[in-house]
Amino acid sequence: MASPPLSVDAYVDGVLSGDRAKLGRAITLVESRNPTHQQAAQEVLTRLLPHAGKALRVGISGVPGVGKSTFIEALGCDLTAKGHRVAVLAVDPSSSRSGGSILGDKTRMERLSIDDNAFIRPSPTGGRLGGVNRATRETMIVCEAAGFDVVLVETVGTGQSETLVAGMVDFFLVLMLPGAGDELQGIKKGILELADMIAVNKADGPNDTRARLAMNEYKTALHIMTPAHPDWTPPVVLCSGLKGMGLAELWQKIEEHRSIMDANGALAERRRAQQVEWMWSMVEDRLMDAVKAHPAVCDALPGLRQAVAQGSTTATRAAQRILEAFGVDAEAD
Ligand code: GDP
Repeated sequence: MASPPLSVDAYVDGVLSGDRAKLGRAITLVESRNPTHQQAAQEVLTRLLPHAGKALRVGISGVPGVGKSTFIEALGCDLTAKGHRVAVLAVDPSSSRSGGSILGDKTRMERLSIDDNAFIRPSPTGGRLGGVNRATRETMIVCEAAGFDVVLVETVGTGQSETLVAGMVDFFLVLMLPGAGDELQGIKKGILELADMIAVNKADGPNDTRARLAMNEYKTALHIMTPAHPDWTPPVVLCSGLKGMGLAELWQKIEEHRSIMDANGALAERRRAQQVEWMWSMVEDRLMDAVKAHPAVCDALPGLRQAVAQGSTTATRAAQRILEAFGVDAEAD
């Protein structure tokens, strides 16, 4: 088993002093699934934790082509120009299949990637969504400890990954396309429930009228929903990442949300709840791994799978058998 390439002290000191190379290596350590690396990573994270948590964490989601990377590049550059230090992370479940991430790719954000006050990290590759989730949350801690005060987490607009990202940020921004009237029918209500703000992007040039129509439709759709918190009604705004239009106003709203939610205690509560939920999701992941790897389960599985597929036993019965094989006394509920 390979030992970690640097000492825990070296990682911690490197990250805290803002050494970019060490920051990159610390994140690689955190992303590693090697048990020795994982153990070192947890030690590093425990030491970094007191220095983390001060950043504004913003999730940014939208279908491929909505303009996420153009938007993040423009917003990120605006923010660094104002003196912020911006980390861009990505959650891309497809990266585990293709072996390469379509998000957070440096070549897509040319200006931001050479900005000294920005740090772009593509989605961790390989592993399951649970592993990507863990690595991204822990990378966020590392970046915050390194002094980044804004963390942007980008994700594609597909189901599970959006829920994951919404569960690790303070503010969840959904980018939509103009003229999405028909599309609105197809958009799952779930995404509107997650959104702290909707921005109709590409609201420039000939798109302007369609963007306004879309804005009004989203306003109506949100209007009939109960907001997640009584102190914040998710706004719908227009912007253009390409033209840099509406970005300052959009960021102002994110800061406004921050100060409201800070003052009423909702931000602290949201983060606490996220931590507890994360703990349970880690337990679930590890438990599933343990169940699937258990020798008695492995022995019983082929027969049970066949029996369920053929309909000679019920799924509930088979689940009971699996849990019994694992050593849990499982009564049906
Ligand atoms: P992503 O897949 O969501 O990251 O989208 P990209 O940022 O790669 O943009 C997809 C396409 O839309 C590119 O051809 C961009 O030039 C274009 N695009 C991005 N932002 C805007 C915008 O604000 N206005 C217009 N008109 N086009 C844009």
